[in-house]
Amino acid sequence: MQRQILRELNDLKFPDIEVIVLSIKRFGILKMLETLKKSIIKCDKCSLCGELPLGPVFGIGKEKSRIMLLGEAAGKDEAILEEPFVGQCGQLLDKMLFSAGLKRRDLYITNVIKARPTKNDGRANRPPSDVEIAACKGWLWKEIQLVQPKCIITLGKVPTYTLLRSQLKKSFKLGDSVGVEYVVDYCDSRIFPSWHPSYLMLHGKKEVDSTVNLFKELKERFYGPRKAKNS
Ligand code: SF4
Repeated sequence: MQRQILRELNDLKFPDIEVIVLSIKRFGILKMLETLKKSIIKCDKCSLCGELPLGPVFGIGKEKSRIMLLGEAAGKDEAILEEPFVGQCGQLLDKMLFSAGLKRRDLYITNVIKARPTKNDGRANRPPSDVEIAACKGWLWKEIQLVQPKCIITLGKVPTYTLLRSQLKKSFKLGDSVGVEYVVDYCDSRIFPSWHPSYLMLHGKKEVDSTVNLFKELKERFYGPRKAKNS
């Protein structure tokens, strides 16, 4: 069974959900996530990972987390350290999580794109192209199927549109969706759009406070009043 899963992952032909559930029971989520990582390392669906000085940037955190945080793509620090949200944006995210009573290790954190899209000969970040998102999003579906979060908080417009493109126009304003609860038909997770920390760094305390309040509200709802780590 594991060989079959690995073969399908390598081909990016994702197994049926029944096969995934059986595989999770048999091998455990951690093992399946490790298998996924091995497949991503070999991915050449677009040129981004081949341009990285180090490996791709995988999702990280609690493998059965009820809450998944979804960003856009790795930045410079993330590409170097091979972990999502570890630069200045990551520090702000950690502070907001702490204020909401959450810790990074309570969650599963990942990006739509498992690499750093760059411009100016690698000196600056750029948003991922539609082609890159289409190439990489299969890995994200797989992560969602394995972790099975009850709640996915999308940080910014790209991850929000990636998950909600059947419900939103490409020209949608993120501010109109922040805090709204979305139900999708391809998984059981509820989707909650929020701001990306890089936007919050530029737009002051009011949005930071409202984001912390959203995190608090979702923590209470999906982990209950107990500490998240005890759930
Ligand atoms: S960014 Fe995604 S699609 Fe592109 S090579 Fe890396 S893993 Fe594959």
